[in-house]
Amino acid sequence: MSKKDNQTLSFSQSVNHMADRAFRAMDMAPDIAAAIKACSSIIQVNFPVNIKGKVEVFTGWRAVHSTHRLPAKGGIRYATFVDQDEVEALAALMTYKCAIVDVPFGGSKGGLLIDPSRYDRNDLELITRRFARELIRKGFLSPATNVPAPDMGTGQREMAWIADTYKLLHPEDINHTGCVTGKPVAHGGIRGRTEATGRGVVYAIREFFRHPEDMKSAGLKGGLAGKRIIIQGLGNVGYYAAKLLDEEDDAKIIAIIERDGALIKEDGLSVEAVRQYINEHKTIKGYADATFTENGLSAMELKCEILIPAAMEAQITAENAGKLKTNLIVEAANGPVTFEADEILRKAGVSILPDAYVNAGGVTVSYFEWIRNLSHIRFGRMERRFDETRGQHLISAMESLTNQTVPDWMRDEIVRGADELDLVRSGLDDTMRNAYQELSNTFHNNKNVEDFRTAAYVVAIDKISRSYFDIGVY
Ligand code: GLU
Repeated sequence: MSKKDNQTLSFSQSVNHMADRAFRAMDMAPDIAAAIKACSSIIQVNFPVNIKGKVEVFTGWRAVHSTHRLPAKGGIRYATFVDQDEVEALAALMTYKCAIVDVPFGGSKGGLLIDPSRYDRNDLELITRRFARELIRKGFLSPATNVPAPDMGTGQREMAWIADTYKLLHPEDINHTGCVTGKPVAHGGIRGRTEATGRGVVYAIREFFRHPEDMKSAGLKGGLAGKRIIIQGLGNVGYYAAKLLDEEDDAKIIAIIERDGALIKEDGLSVEAVRQYINEHKTIKGYADATFTENGLSAMELKCEILIPAAMEAQITAENAGKLKTNLIVEAANGPVTFEADEILRKAGVSILPDAYVNAGGVTVSYFEWIRNLSHIRFGRMERRFDETRGQHLISAMESLTNQTVPDWMRDEIVRGADELDLVRSGLDDTMRNAYQELSNTFHNNKNVEDFRTAAYVVAIDKISRSYFDIGVY
C-alpha cells in the first residue's frame, strides 16, 4: 500500500478536476471558480532539532486554502511522502468538507516530512513543539485563525504538545485550548473525537441504506446485515468504521487490507480480534483465523457490495479501477480514488460516496470540541441532572395516572440525562444525515449532476460562492 507515483495528474490537479465538474454543472463564472479553487496561502518551514546530540533539519508545510470562514481547519500529518502539492490538495478538500457538513470553518492542512517510527517519544515531542512554534510565530496556528487536528501519523499526544506550546507562548489568550482539536479529554478534548471519523463513515452508510432510490442505482437491496465489505486500512478511521459495521450492523467484513498484505475470510472477520493482533504483533501476518495474501491491493478486486478505502490517497487508480467488483465505494480516506479512476468507475456505474462528505465526521466533532473550548464548559454539564429529574417526574406521573409500573428498561431510557458522549454522537448523526439528504436531493433534482461526488461539490460550492457574493472580493 504505497502512494502511487505514476499518476498523470497530481493530487491537487485531481481534486480541482473533480471540482470543475461541479463548476460546469452550476455554470459558474470562471473568475469565481478560479477564486474558489485557489489556495490562499502556504508556508514551508525548515527547522533544526537536536536529536540525541545530532542536529537534524525537518521540513513541514501548512496550507490555508480558504478563509471565507475562520478559523481555517484541518489536520497535520506526519509521513515520509508529504509534499506541498499534497498539503494543498488536502486543504482544498477541507474547504469543501466543512461546507458540505455546515461546519463554519475555512480549509487548511499541514504536513511534516518524517517517519515517526524512527523517533522515540521524547524526540517526537521536541520535533512537534518546535514545528508548532514555527507555525504559531508565523501566524499559521491560533484558536481564531488556524486550528490543526490529528491526521495520518498524529493523534491526541501530538495535539496535547501543540496546545501546550501555544499556551506557553500565549498565556493571555483565554481561548488557548481551542488552538487545536483532537486533544486528550483531560486537556480540553471532547469525548467521542477519536472515533468520530470512523463513526461518521458508518452514519453515512446507514443513511445511504435509508434511501431506496440510491440503493437501487447502486444495485443494492435490503439492509446492511450480511453485506460483504472490504476495508483498506485499519488505522483510526478504518478501525472504528469496520468495528461498528461488524458489531452493530452485522455486516460481513470479508477482507482487511493493510500495509503488509490482506486478510481474507468469506464469512466475515472479527475486526476487534484483528486489531488486537496488530497491536500485539505490528503486522497482520500470522493471524490464524483468515487467509493471508501478500499482495494486499489484489484483495480490493474481490467481489463485495461495499469497498471502503480508509488508508490514503491514490489507491484506486486507472490501473485497478476497471477490475473492482463492488457496488458501492465509500471513501473514508481523503482522495483514495484518482480523477482518472473516478471517470472509469462512473462509466461502469459504480456508486461512490465521496471523501469530502464521508469522512467529515472528524472535523464535525472537532467543531464541537472547539465550541466546548470557547465556552469553557463540558456539554451536558448544566442540564443533565435537570433532565433526569424531569424524567423521574414523568415516570411518576405516568404510573399514578395508569396505576401501572413502568418497566425498568423504559424507566432507565426516559430518566437518563444526556452526557457529553450522547450529545456528540447525536450531533454527529444529525450532521451526517442532513448532509446526505442535501447531497441526495442535489443528485436527484439537478439534471447536470450525474454522481454523488459532483453533487457534494455542488452543495459545497453553492455555499462557498454565496459567501463570496454576499461579502464581495476586496
Ligand atoms: N484530519 C481530519 C480530516 O482530514 C480532521 C480535520 C479536523 O478535525 O480539523 O478531516
